[in-house]
Amino acid sequence: MLLIIAVFISIGMAAYIAFPLLSPETAGSPLPVDVTVAGDLKRRRLVVYDNLQDLEFEFQSGKIARDDYATLRANYLGEAASLMVATQEAEQSQESNALIEREVAARRAQRKVQQKPDYTCAACGYENPLPVKFCGECGAGMAALRKKEVKKRSSAGIPPV
Ligand SMILES: [Zn+2]
Repeated sequence: MLLIIAVFISIGMAAYIAFPLLSPETAGSPLPVDVTVAGDLKRRRLVVYDNLQDLEFEFQSGKIARDDYATLRANYLGEAASLMVATQEAEQSQESNALIEREVAARRAQRKVQQKPDYTCAACGYENPLPVKFCGECGAGMAALRKKEVKKRSSAGIPPV
């Protein structure tokens, strides 16, 4: 009798300890590494697949009635289907975001290329990122240098830029 009670208590404790590990929120990955929407959806889908597998096993071993099995299976399949749709939508929005970011980067690069010759210091060659009156590197007056440059060029027969 005592042995039976001891066995029941130990089973109860094992179940109590294992329960948080087996609950759907934490099953599979106790530490959520991928916190993106797509990662979360994938994790949830894997949990549903696990549940489906368990359900199949329990039905095969005769633990679940056919009606319950059919209902639960339909629920899981529906959940898996909606998660797949959500995953596809998330991937599409990610793709369009990536496209927009690429276009913005391309335009920025283009603008940089256009700006480059305008603010390069003629004295030290530093490429000032903004239109400035004085060079950010050597402090030389940009306008004066440009005029000098133009004068030099015209006296040398080179047309001004
Ligand atoms: Zn300079």
